[in-house]
Amino acid sequence: MNKKQNRINLFKNKFSRIPVGTFTTAPVLELMELSGAYRPKADFSCDEMVKLAMAQNEYLDFETVRYPFDMAVLAEAMGCKVDFGSMDRTPSVIEPLVFDEIDELYSNLDNFESKGRIPTILDATTKIKSQIKDDAVSIAGCEGPVDLAASIIGLKKLLLWTLKEPESLGKLLDVCSEACITFSNLCLDHGADSACIADAIASPQLVPPNSFKDVVMPTYKKITSKSKRPIFLHICGNVSPIKEELSQCGFNGISVEESVDDLRELVETFHKNEVGVIGNVSPVTTLYSGTVDDVTTEAKRSLDSGIDFLAPGCGIAPQTPLKNLAALVETRNKYEE
Ligand SMILES: [Zn+2]
Repeated sequence: MNKKQNRINLFKNKFSRIPVGTFTTAPVLELMELSGAYRPKADFSCDEMVKLAMAQNEYLDFETVRYPFDMAVLAEAMGCKVDFGSMDRTPSVIEPLVFDEIDELYSNLDNFESKGRIPTILDATTKIKSQIKDDAVSIAGCEGPVDLAASIIGLKKLLLWTLKEPESLGKLLDVCSEACITFSNLCLDHGADSACIADAIASPQLVPPNSFKDVVMPTYKKITSKSKRPIFLHICGNVSPIKEELSQCGFNGISVEESVDDLRELVETFHKNEVGVIGNVSPVTTLYSGTVDDVTTEAKRSLDSGIDFLAPGCGIAPQTPLKNLAALVETRNKYEE
């Protein structure tokens, strides 16, 4: 079989060739200039959010419209204090939550659809659905359960719990998984083509593979069993040590970074379980600081390895040159399978 026959179509045969786009955040400054929709306004105003999201398809020919543009939506809705940043600095959590018992946190999920920026994102979802062209899909993104847990108790405590208090961590991840499921299902119900949760901290470089298997994997399985479809995961770091486990979590596809050991091997493992692979051009070394030639070379490598959706390996820096992102599309257009 050739590579084309082996590929997994993540959007029910919508695309006849390998699609290009982003499943990770894309608050690109040049797109703000072109669309006239600037962050941080685009983080709070439905119309601006829609404009900036649609710009990915309009000005870049990306086949994805990925929104919102930061990784603090769920934390904010759960009650964490957020610094809303500036045009080139996305919102981030600045203070963990104060609570006595983990079980208390479930009440922070009451009326979740009306909390923080969620109403704006849901309005934007409806609007994007009415505007999006046939050549693109929308992706509603939020932080994954591990990143949300780190926002709630702080990274240091989370890493400590991973080693010393796996039971407490499991309990906390359960609350966080409910937040991910509720948000994803709300977006899918409002007309998003897909949802994507992103965990930077679940990387094997921070959470040891054993803890991943015992605590994170059951959480991911719960999310995929209770979420509408399609549901994707972005996970940071070199995930090769946990590739088998990841492939069994039930996601439709997983977005991975350029740091994976052997992309071909990872593709094979994921494909055995019908999981698509998304990625994995370096957002920093290549897309941000590299040349168009560098992008072409790395994108070809990803395509040659059998990737199902060509994309940046992680969130894109605001200052990333548009010409480098356009080179992803160019490379795919010229690529012969
Ligand atoms: Zn990443």
